[in-house]
Order: sequence, then structure tokens, then C-alpha cells
Amino acid sequence: MTILVTGGAGYIGSHTVLYLKEKGLDVVVLDSLQKGHREAVLNAPLYTGQLKDEAVLDEIFQKHAIEAVVHFAADSLVGESVQDPLKYYENNVGGTLNLLEKMVHYGVLRIVFSSTAAVYGEPESIPIQETDQTAPTNPYGETKLAIEKMLKWSDQAYGLKSVCLRYFNAAGADPQAKIGEDHQPESHLIPIVLQAALGQRDKIAIFGDDYPTEDGSCVRDYIHVMDLAQAHYLALKKLAATNESGIYNLGSGKGFSVQEVIDTCRKVTGREIKADVSPRRPGDPAVLIASSHRAEEKLGWKPEYTELDEIVAHAWQWHKQSPNGYKN
Ligand code: UDP
Repeated sequence: MTILVTGGAGYIGSHTVLYLKEKGLDVVVLDSLQKGHREAVLNAPLYTGQLKDEAVLDEIFQKHAIEAVVHFAADSLVGESVQDPLKYYENNVGGTLNLLEKMVHYGVLRIVFSSTAAVYGEPESIPIQETDQTAPTNPYGETKLAIEKMLKWSDQAYGLKSVCLRYFNAAGADPQAKIGEDHQPESHLIPIVLQAALGQRDKIAIFGDDYPTEDGSCVRDYIHVMDLAQAHYLALKKLAATNESGIYNLGSGKGFSVQEVIDTCRKVTGREIKADVSPRRPGDPAVLIASSHRAEEKLGWKPEYTELDEIVAHAWQWHKQSPNGYKN
């Protein structure tokens, strides 16, 4: 039996493929390679194609005995989604619709879905619980929430069982630095700060210092990408054992401000990193911190890399060794 990982050449997808392979599972990857990297897929067959490409989905489901799907493939830039919402509805919602139709057609009735904290929008209270209201503030979050709802109704109608994992801020890299984070262009805080440490950027812009937080910069919950990978493995096991659908937050339960992240990067790299304050980035909530008790209790999830220093150290290993990402 084989697991199909869509978007398995992307950042979180490729780390999950690595983890699933380490656990002895058979994995097949489907990725458009528009954002993903062929080199990030270690020891698994890679099909290049989009979710709207019916022929490639048919080929995979006909050739491999797919037991379950782990579904990452999506566009995921908040700013771009505001500029071009229909692209997000087409690729994320439309793409997933095709995938689910094929799954139902081929009788593959288990999926682990890559969702996001962006489904909550401006939080009601901290830490955020899965039962809190969902009110996305951008099309990216809306498309992820629309897919969660598609999954809920597909469970009821077709018995398609799903686990939706709402990630907070994915960070870090494979502790052996075989693979890591490589977005073009980069928009995430930790890799941007490490690019400044490498001299690839003059300085880092802190987006706002007048938020109602201790030092005025935004607070986020950073979670190691291999711990996210572990949760996907546990979700697959849970689906196989119980056939129970569910929605789970994945975060560390701890918050760090932008200023604290920069300080940690200075400490870990030993390099000077210049920073100055820029205007707020539109749509940024002041504080996002997860409650992940449900994942701990129901999935048996136990994050392994819980210190920010360690998360940054793994990211730094990868960035130092591969300053140009997979282009080295
Ligand atoms: N951030 C920043 N400067 C940057 C990039 C990000 O101050 O160059 C801030 C951003 O405003 C947010 C936090 O860092 O408060 C994390 O941003 P990221 O884009 O990594 O993740 P997000 O929380 O938006 O998913």
C-alpha cells in the first residue's frame, strides 16, 4: 500500500515525504514543480503535473495501490491571494475538487489535508482552539477553509475520511540538512533573517513595532517542520486505525516576537544582523499562538524540537550549506 503526497516537492511536503519514508511507508509524489524542487524529493517516485490534470491523477491511481493521500499542493502566498483571488480558487479549491473526485472514483477514502492558522483570521482569544470561530481575512485562508468544508460534506456523503491539520508558523529544516526551505521569492521571517546573516540582504525589516505586544512586534508560534511531518504520519495512522475525521491545530503553544526571532538568529549564527522598523504588513494579526492539546491527546503528537534556538539552528545549517537553496 502506498501514500500519495501531493505537493511533496514543497517545503513541508518534502519533509513529510522524508519522514514517511523513514517510517518505512511507500510514497508517491505528485508536484507541479512550479514552486517545489525535484531535488527535495528523496527516494520516492515523482510525477510532475497539476491537480487539474486528470490524466496524471488517473495514471497514479491506476498504477499504484494508493491507500491514502496527504494533500499539500496549493498556492500559499497571502499577499498574492489578495491580488489574484481567482487563481487561488482555481488552484486550491478547483485542484482539490479534482483530486477528491478521483479519490472517490478510485475508492481511496482517506486524506490528510494541509490547512492553516489563516482559517481563523483575527483570533477571538489566545491560545487559539479548534472550536474558535473561523473568519479568514484573505482569499488564501478562505480557500483552505472552503476545502475543509468540502471534506466535511464529502465525509458525510461518500465516507471520505479526513484529517485537517492547521499549521501555525512552519520553520526549521531536516536536522541532517539533506533538505530545507527554499522559496523564490522568500517571504517567511526566519529564512529572511538568515539571508541577512549570510549577507544576502542588507537588513531585515520589522513589520510594525506598535502592536499590543511586549516589544511591539508581532508574536507567532513557530513549529519545527519535522514535527509537522510527524503529525502527518500520526494522522495517517489514526485514519487507518479509527476511520475518524478530525481537525487539529499544530503549533508549539509558545509565542515569539519578530524581535525575539531576530535576536535568536543573532545568537545562533553569531553574525551581525541589521534590522529596522518598517510599516505594518496589512492583515497581520498581533498574536497567533495555537493550543495543540487536541493533537497531543487524540493523535499522540509529541513535538521533538521545541526550542526556538534548535529550530533556528537547523534552518541555519541548511542555509549555510545551501545559500542558494537547491540551485547550489
Ligand atoms: N515579518 C517581518 N519582516 C519580514 C517578514 C516577516 O517583520 O521581512 C513578520 C510578519 O509581519 C509576521 C512574522 O514576521 O508578524 C511572521 O511572518 P511570516 O511571513 O514568516 O509568517 P506568517 O505569520 O505571515 O504566516
